[in-house]
Amino acid sequence: MTQAAVAPYQDAIDIIKEEGGEICKLCYQCGTCTATCPWNLVRSFMVRKAMHQAQLGLIDFESEDMWLCVTCKWCVDRCPRGVEIIDVWRSFRRAIVEMGIAGIPDSIRFTQKNISGVGNPQGEDRNKRTGWAGEAGVKTFTKGMEVLYFACCYNAYDPKLIRVAKATAKIMEKAGISFGILGNEQNCCGESIRKAGAEETFKSMVKTNIESFNKAGVQKIMVSSPHCYHTLKNEYAELGGKFEVLHSAQFLAQLIKEGKIKPTKEIKKVVTLHDSCYLGRHNKIYDDPRFVLKSIPGIQLVEMYNNRENGLCCGGGGGRIWAETKKGERFSDMRIEQAIEAKANVLAAACPYCMANFEDSVVTMDKGSVIEVKEIVELVAESL
Ligand code: SF4
Ligand code: SF4
Repeated sequence: MTQAAVAPYQDAIDIIKEEGGEICKLCYQCGTCTATCPWNLVRSFMVRKAMHQAQLGLIDFESEDMWLCVTCKWCVDRCPRGVEIIDVWRSFRRAIVEMGIAGIPDSIRFTQKNISGVGNPQGEDRNKRTGWAGEAGVKTFTKGMEVLYFACCYNAYDPKLIRVAKATAKIMEKAGISFGILGNEQNCCGESIRKAGAEETFKSMVKTNIESFNKAGVQKIMVSSPHCYHTLKNEYAELGGKFEVLHSAQFLAQLIKEGKIKPTKEIKKVVTLHDSCYLGRHNKIYDDPRFVLKSIPGIQLVEMYNNRENGLCCGGGGGRIWAETKKGERFSDMRIEQAIEAKANVLAAACPYCMANFEDSVVTMDKGSVIEVKEIVELVAESL
């Protein structure tokens, strides 16, 4: 432990208390969190020890461990004392980011700067955000429209994931939904930087977004990302933004149940579903994506070893989507292996971070001839 680490920074301790990090006092050191944490499948990550250090106010702020937690919530759900372990990690990160008391990974610094500067984590041109929508003929949201489609920065900018935004728009058009998108002034939802400790940047982003939603007359928002879903539904509400928020998996399930769309074209594939942490453990949405996949004729749905409440994170939560993870430590690689073991030829996901990580893993593991990665909206669009 470095000397800086053991110094009892009172201001940092105050931030930790404000963020709810003091809840670690409930911890009785059983070690269930360490045993549950997926990092310990690939390297050592002593979650219990960090909770103890926090109890003593002797936090090793310089440790690489500060930036590992992917906020997958597995340990939180199993902790017998109800310790909000994610909030404890987030409070450490906030103390580092806001007080500069230890090094901040470049990935976090750049992401924060990009979001503050151009409204998206990738640092892409703000004026190109709606490029995908122009190609797909999607309109700008106007008062009286039923749904605002909030596509996620990843789906809006990443050339490999624009197809997800386009497939979503195609389905909504087929279903006769009156919908639009915000223009280029749309900003990132801010979820990942909040989990990475940039609380003030997050709050200012939320304020701007709530103002744009209210100005446009938005009441119902449909999102592609479970991260946008979680933050818009649960965290914006705490900051005064009250909107009806639906994830695309829920929306598709509704459209199918109401008979507004009917998948009819057969897709003869063995498909397995990856439960993203923010749809699954954080928001308990397990059945809707499975219902959607089972509604597609020809699909045989199989489960991977880790599924539903025991889903294995793709590695992209908690701001780690912007970080480089060493080969041999990537959860997404393990997930590809699990999908292949389940004898699936399609790994279905409903999250842009999971999609990006799995697609990278398929390439780096050279498994493209064995398994494909598909968003569930793509499969539905193919079947209509
Ligand atoms: S599972 Fe909960 S009580 Fe047990 S060591 Fe972890 S934080 Fe403490
Ligand atoms: S939330 Fe997930 S990654 Fe973070 S400490 Fe808990 S189990 Fe580990």
